[in-house]
Amino acid sequence: MNELQIKLVIGLEVHVQLSTESKLFCGCSVAFGAPPNTQVCPVCLGHPGSLPVMNRRAVELAIRTGLALHCEIAEVTKWDRKNYFYPDLPKGYQISQFDQPICGEGYLQFPDPEREGHSLRVRLIRAHLEEDAGKSMHDESAGKADSRIDLNRTGTPLLEIVSYPDLNSPQAAKAFLTELRLLLTYLGVSDCNMQEGSLRADANVNLHIQTDGRTVATPIVEVKNLNSFRAVERALVYESQRQYQQWQKTGEELGEAPKQTRGWDDAQGVTVPQREKEESSDYRYFPDPDLVPLRISPEQLDAAREQLGELPATIRQRLETEQKLKPYDADVIVSQGRGVVEYFDRAVAAGAAAKRVSSWIQQDVLRTLNENNSTIEAFSLTAERLAELLKAIDSGDIDNSRGKDVFQYWMEHPGTDLPAAKKALGIESVDLGEMETLCRELLDENPKIVAQVQEGNLKGLGALIGAAKKKNPNVDPKLVRQVCQQIIEAN
Ligand code: ZN
Ligand code: MN
Repeated sequence: MNELQIKLVIGLEVHVQLSTESKLFCGCSVAFGAPPNTQVCPVCLGHPGSLPVMNRRAVELAIRTGLALHCEIAEVTKWDRKNYFYPDLPKGYQISQFDQPICGEGYLQFPDPEREGHSLRVRLIRAHLEEDAGKSMHDESAGKADSRIDLNRTGTPLLEIVSYPDLNSPQAAKAFLTELRLLLTYLGVSDCNMQEGSLRADANVNLHIQTDGRTVATPIVEVKNLNSFRAVERALVYESQRQYQQWQKTGEELGEAPKQTRGWDDAQGVTVPQREKEESSDYRYFPDPDLVPLRISPEQLDAAREQLGELPATIRQRLETEQKLKPYDADVIVSQGRGVVEYFDRAVAAGAAAKRVSSWIQQDVLRTLNENNSTIEAFSLTAERLAELLKAIDSGDIDNSRGKDVFQYWMEHPGTDLPAAKKALGIESVDLGEMETLCRELLDENPKIVAQVQEGNLKGLGALIGAAKKKNPNVDPKLVRQVCQQIIEAN
């Protein structure tokens, strides 16, 4: 029996809808959800004699994205026609970019989902601008065989980002897309709404199998229709198993079979064959004679660079090195978006300890936002006020559990300050004399625990804290332990 080594090889193509007001070559709105065929004009319908006018905003957003992905930005880029027939493509061609894309090679680096503190880097082949096609809607309910076309989406600006086949697991592919979406959100170039189709992924996938001292590759399959991150993961798991079984049955190898296209059926959990994949020569690409090539000036690049802001990878690194957060915690904060990062930074700037801010954001702040289906921008508690509370906890002025009471009080009474909250909750520091009396009472009521401690078992002391809190909610748990232990040892 030969030992098989199997490597899964995945490359992704991601279509991102850019956040423009109007389409790529006409003034029609790109707003989602309008009645069919109400956002169209002679240009996007491809009427003879109509001429395209390029949307500068789309180019600007493409450059900003390219810079964030470490891509080389072309000095000169041009528009090409990709010719094919489909009912949702009225012109008979799509305006895209063939041999001179706006963005050349780059890369995306992101946290390795399998190893905390490590990252993966996936190289990018290119990113180019193109217009979207329309939508075909098939009604296959019984007794009908009805297909309709909605051309509202025709001409919507897309940036197609193409990766090298550097991904080797479904989890890594999902992590790549998660990071890409996060980055695009930070850049403000797309709303990345997958349900509305603003972010669509196709995966090229095959297996490299080492057998009998040589490596064979199964035919590459392009899996389409991946409409959620979960779908990406499931489809890649399914497709890799399917290719393995196919190879075992037939020994089918790359070179014997052409590249295939399969669609993901989310309901059935399978990929199904679609049309044979065209070679790029089948599209008869040629430069669009209606559009002049585009020059990108150094000034345009500088302007785009200024729009980048601090990006996720840099922020993670800053939180880890300057604030000493664990990679996991830094990632949770960064993944919440710019607003939460700013909130964190402001609380730290106001003097609270970074680790405490991080854990309160992750537990209390995010939980509250979740419960109220709200955002950090609309949060009633300012970062500065939270910092004031956390500093009081750090200095021992308020213990942690009473701190949670203050937080809760603030949720119900927004705008009150710390002294007011303390007063309303009856929080006052307990002096040592009171504390001693309370501890003596506790020990009198719990002779078993006293005996345990005398035998050197200190665990029992923890059980006293709940009882101490009942007598006086303001007692500091650490002090309860300490004073009780001292009393027992002094006897
Ligand atoms: Zn139009
Ligand atoms: Mn495309």
